[in-house]
Amino acid sequence: MDRIDCIVVGAGVVGLAIARRLAQAGREVVVVEAADDIGTGTSSRNSEVIHAGIYYAAGSLMARHCVAGKHALYAYCEDHGIPHRRCGKLIVATSAEDNAKLGAIRARAAGNGVDDLVLLDAAAARALEPALNCTAALLSPSTGIIDSHAYMLALRGDAEAAGAMIAFNAPLQRAVIAADGITAEVGGDAPMTLACRLLVNAAGLQAPALARAIDGLSREHIPTAYLAKGNYVSCNARAPFTHLIYPVPEPGGLGVHLTLDMAGQAKFGPDVEWVSTMDYEVDPARVARFYPAIRRYWPALPDGALAPGYAGIRPKIVPPDIAVQDFLIQGPRDHGVDGLINLFGIESPGLTASLAIADHVALLAR
Ligand SMILES: Cc1cc2nc3c(=O)[nH]c(=O)nc-3n(C[C@H](O)[C@H](O)[C@H](O)COP(=O)(O)OP(=O)(O)OC[C@H]3O[C@@H](n4cnc5c(N)ncnc54)[C@H](O)[C@@H]3O)c2cc1C
Repeated sequence: MDRIDCIVVGAGVVGLAIARRLAQAGREVVVVEAADDIGTGTSSRNSEVIHAGIYYAAGSLMARHCVAGKHALYAYCEDHGIPHRRCGKLIVATSAEDNAKLGAIRARAAGNGVDDLVLLDAAAARALEPALNCTAALLSPSTGIIDSHAYMLALRGDAEAAGAMIAFNAPLQRAVIAADGITAEVGGDAPMTLACRLLVNAAGLQAPALARAIDGLSREHIPTAYLAKGNYVSCNARAPFTHLIYPVPEPGGLGVHLTLDMAGQAKFGPDVEWVSTMDYEVDPARVARFYPAIRRYWPALPDGALAPGYAGIRPKIVPPDIAVQDFLIQGPRDHGVDGLINLFGIESPGLTASLAIADHVALLAR
């Protein structure tokens, strides 16, 4: 049996950021990835937005890691030539009821260290975006967009340059906690058993199931997994916006928003659909309900402009009736197992927060 220092399970954006961080700290790292490439899971099924850190509960891991991660991510993009744009976003109110919520959103953001939000009246918002319908808006200048695949390629390059290895088609099937370390059974193309000092479970949607396959980890530390699918629709009309446009958030998500990719192409979504299986098909019947949601802020959206796009699934660890969750990152102090770190519920803003999450894991791994 081969002995190595660290195994990171999952080559999504979070696993890659962790592998890079540990390898650059001088640790020997092997990443095992069930799929045949990096970033084939949630990391390639999201909005590719660099979030400012506005909505999260004060002091939560989401708030802290989003804000720290945002700063680190912009710096990383600059250093590594990753395509990105600090385009800003508008959170738009379209009713008196919405207007009343903008102040609370701004106060919450300030509590998280995001103190650059600007409250705009309808005329000022329309001066920025003439096609916009709104009664007021908040401008978030530090929100942006990123080419997430280019980012993951750069993380992989950094990790490999620091000595990390990535094994593809290599699902971790079972692990056993022993007194002298952790034994990991890897299946797939080249089944192997590895002994390691550190096992990092960054398996995204599968993280709770993988944790249940770790002999010696008490079940009380493993959350129940819930799946919240987010469907996107593409737009074949030119959307005349330069900022991202978000409605005032709704329970369970940020509402159907307009995001732009690096080529300027608009997409709308995600909606929230609680599901029991990981099916990424977008039901064409859902498209019709996007029109009224979008026309609240873009009345000129032409008929027939929307088509089914893609879907991503949020790795929830709270049921539908609980509106908020936080990242759950457990180390030895939480579950009592030396050398094991589990990451659960790494939903949005996990892409933005990835570098900060990696720093968090590196601290737990010391
Ligand atoms: C609809 C939606 C929109 C989002 N929008 C944004 C956004 O705009 N901005 C933002 O910051 N965040 C966003 N997020 C969140 C972000 O996409 C995720 O937090 C992030 O991609 C999670 O990365 P990950 O590496 O934890 O998981 P994943 O990308 O899912 O990677 C997990 C990897 O583990 C592998 N794996 C699973 N089990 C095993 C096993 N047993 N053995 C080996 N490998 C295994 C999988 O194959 C996969 O490659 C969004 C998420 C969703 C769902």
